[in-house]
Amino acid sequence: MIVMKFGGSSVESAAAIERVAGIVKSRAARRPVVVVSAMGKTTNKLLAIAQTAIEGRREEYIRQIHDLRDFHSREARQVVPLAERAALDRILDDHFQELTELVKGLAVLGELTPRSIDAISAYGERLSSIIVSLAFRHFGMSAVHVDSRELIVTDKRHTHAAPLFSETYSRLSAALPPLTEKSVVVMGGFIGSTRDGVTTTLGRGGSDLTAAVVGAGIGAEEIQIWTDVDGMLTADPTIIPGGHRVKLISFAEAAELAYFGAKVLHPATVVPAIEKNIPVLILNSRRPECGGTRIVSDAVHSRNVA
Ligand code: ASP
Ligand code: MG
Repeated sequence: MIVMKFGGSSVESAAAIERVAGIVKSRAARRPVVVVSAMGKTTNKLLAIAQTAIEGRREEYIRQIHDLRDFHSREARQVVPLAERAALDRILDDHFQELTELVKGLAVLGELTPRSIDAISAYGERLSSIIVSLAFRHFGMSAVHVDSRELIVTDKRHTHAAPLFSETYSRLSAALPPLTEKSVVVMGGFIGSTRDGVTTTLGRGGSDLTAAVVGAGIGAEEIQIWTDVDGMLTADPTIIPGGHRVKLISFAEAAELAYFGAKVLHPATVVPAIEKNIPVLILNSRRPECGGTRIVSDAVHSRNVA
């Protein structure tokens, strides 16, 4: 089993999702569990909707919700099998209706709590994971969607909840391995729930942590973080052009590099993987043939810059 995580820009459109499907399909024999972020800038848009609501700007938040639905519908329709279009519409209806109710409630209260922020921002990954699982079927894979909130158990620190590891690991290891025997599993990053079943989120950018936790929980042979850069570079390309790709790096070195501005992945998020000795690869979903960067727990001594 491997874990493959795709961030928001890797699933931001029908074309991007098609690219992801190709990447996953060619690795289907390794029994992937796919973790996806919300599509594009959806999380920001959801937070903006919540803000508009508590400011009492009703027409504005209704329009924002419409736009977000249109965006999901437009992109998803191009990658969902014909036979599943009606199901897709129903899923979008249900989710956006529920979201609208929630947002109206916030508008009445005029107050945003961490718990309601989580309830709202979770819609991004709830939707993207369902859409990606339907898309995988369109592209000829057997795929099952798993609601991450049923497996990732967290504490109650809304908006930056921490996974309760032993409980989460036992749920993951019971649920996922049997599913991967026949299907690609697709789940949303970033979201979880408390022991009482209340939706939580792991903090902005939290899908990487989800990927690491899932990998650790199922004893994956590897965790792949698919982004839109070639891996970790020796210099931040937005500041110094011509940084070299680091092929292999120890966790400690990666942490240092991140500190100096290689913003690809925050090493703290992969601690659960490192603890279990599971290598973490950073790969480019727009150039899948590029070898990326491999982060391993032990020290690396050789010269290994590409
Ligand atoms: N969608 C969430 C965010 O934008 C989580 C993630 O992308 O990792 O922060
Ligand atoms: Mg994101």
